[in-house]
Amino acid sequence: MKIRLLVFFNLMLVTSHIAMCQSSSQNSVAIEKIWGQYDKYKEPAIKNRFMKHAEMMPLIQKHVDSKLLSKEEIGKSVRGRSINHLTAGRGKTKVLLWSQMHGDESTATMALFDVFNFLSSNDDNNELKRLILDNLELHFVPMLNPDGAQAWKRRNDLEIDINRDARMQVTPEGRALMGLAKKLQPQIGFNLHDQNYLYSSGRSKNSATISFLAPAYNYPKDMNAVRKRATQIILSMNKALQSKSPGNVAKYNDDFDPRCFGDTFQGMGISTILIESGGYYHDPEKQFIRKLNFLALLTAFESIAKGSFEKEDIKDYDAIPENDNSLYDVFVKNVMITKEGQEFITHLGVNRSQIRASDNSAMTYSGRIAEIGDQELVFGYDEIDASGLKFTPAKVKTMTRAEWDRLTPQQELDLIKEGYLFVKWSDGQSPTGAIKNRLLNLTNNAENTVQSASIGQNAQFLLSKDGKPVFAVVNGYKVDLSQPAKVLVNTYGY
Ligand SMILES: [Zn+2]
Repeated sequence: MKIRLLVFFNLMLVTSHIAMCQSSSQNSVAIEKIWGQYDKYKEPAIKNRFMKHAEMMPLIQKHVDSKLLSKEEIGKSVRGRSINHLTAGRGKTKVLLWSQMHGDESTATMALFDVFNFLSSNDDNNELKRLILDNLELHFVPMLNPDGAQAWKRRNDLEIDINRDARMQVTPEGRALMGLAKKLQPQIGFNLHDQNYLYSSGRSKNSATISFLAPAYNYPKDMNAVRKRATQIILSMNKALQSKSPGNVAKYNDDFDPRCFGDTFQGMGISTILIESGGYYHDPEKQFIRKLNFLALLTAFESIAKGSFEKEDIKDYDAIPENDNSLYDVFVKNVMITKEGQEFITHLGVNRSQIRASDNSAMTYSGRIAEIGDQELVFGYDEIDASGLKFTPAKVKTMTRAEWDRLTPQQELDLIKEGYLFVKWSDGQSPTGAIKNRLLNLTNNAENTVQSASIGQNAQFLLSKDGKPVFAVVNGYKVDLSQPAKVLVNTYGY
């Protein structure tokens, strides 16, 4: 009887614990509904991550005209581009958000304009909008580094990293942000960045799509009430993100650096949260990650407006894995390679480097072999189990330009199955550089120069069984030859 009672009691505990977990991991009804309606709020003028200052200004004006935002210029960049402080809401809690202090980190800037569209719309989600705008005074500085955005680079045009300039303040952009923070004295701050897309969440195959940090305000990394509040708000956002992209959240390194704005603001009494947008499977333009930013920010606003973050237990922060470096674009396992007269089985890591268009408004990709040899706890966005398969150099097919132009994706795939990855025109020079929406590459060389696996070499090879290709790695993309033909983002002309 005693035992049965104990079992019953334990069951009760387990059940109530499950119920608790479920209720705390669920988003509010309002947030769930808005997630489902995201496309309605997504700013259609922002189609990719390369928006420039001149394209952003009319979008700001749209929300000034709609009376959502009031605008104040708080400074100019080195090249004289305006730095804009935008305000919405009339609540008692001041929240300051700034994005893109690193010019090539724009995911959150895109999401901020989706948030503005949400806050300025008039529909069946007005209750949450009212809650946010009645309880918060929101201050935004989108694209703090417009010169960096123009040139698609991290630093400003003095070649200084603005996020290492909180102390010296030699950059006009850094001075504008510090001046605003001192004037407003917000309770809460959001420092919005992008991080390496190859970061993983712990030593796992999950990419660190969003990483958080409640920065330290001193070298011993002490916890005080200010940092605790930032940590609790992170925990609210973590739950929301886990419900949409499980396992893709991580923590950023919390070593104290007094040169950084987040660390400095935390020390000034502003509960500061760093959000880093990383990578997500086959999302090079970061449009799903933009949607996750939208979700994270609205969840944070709701949680701050309601005060619900205060219920979060900061011990849960320990359970979020740290950022780690365990991802390749493509990880090829157990491939047989012949090199220098030796035959051996090993692993290959392949990454795609990004090449900027001359006007900094698009990116193309060039795959390279990044690693050869044994690897532990390493994964790929795409993986190939090449057990029993041999690294095989590809052949060059000669055809006329007209024949190349007429090739269908299926015909290209069939040529790969015959061992070809390159086409040489018989009647002229072919272009070099990225070739969009094809499966085969072009070359002006009679022979393929890629004869074996070497670090740094173009990732263009076949994986064959008994001389018959089973997989191909084309410009750093995995192509499964048993699957229907599907063109790649870009191949290459050599
Ligand atoms: Zn950054």
